Amino acid sequence: MEDQGAEGCIFCRIARGEIPADLVYEGADVVAFRDLNPQGPAHVLVIPRRHLPSLHEGGDDSALLGALLLAAREVAEREGLGASGYRVVINNGPDGGQTVPHLHLHVLGGRPFGWPPG
Ligand code: 5GP
Ligand code: ZN
Repeated sequence: MEDQGAEGCIFCRIARGEIPADLVYEGADVVAFRDLNPQGPAHVLVIPRRHLPSLHEGGDDSALLGALLLAAREVAEREGLGASGYRVVINNGPDGGQTVPHLHLHVLGGRPFGWPPG
């Protein structure tokens, strides 16, 4: 999962509208779309429009990082998950299970999720 930069990045291409995706939220700096391989009835990815490879290598723009969390909450609300609950996950690096090198938050809901994760 080497970072190839923004040019060929699949999530940058989705954010630019070059690759189709089922968008559920569009903000100035953040966009959210349904995961291609959903792990629950609701599974949405929240990404910055700007290419940041991961949380760990994502710089220190606290306004943008905060906007991602607020967008995750908004997505959960739009998906009707506010009362039942949901999970927000950031996989980081190899041991974290990150497979796409563009920072993304998973918003998962619609079923109970176990803890600890596998
Ligand atoms: P990660 O494992 O990096 O935390 O999560 C990457 C997620 O991106 C996976 O859940 C995978 O299903 C999803 N994904 C990978 N490629 C695409 C794509 O082209 N479109 C969409 N909508 N999701 C994708
Ligand atoms: Zn990218």
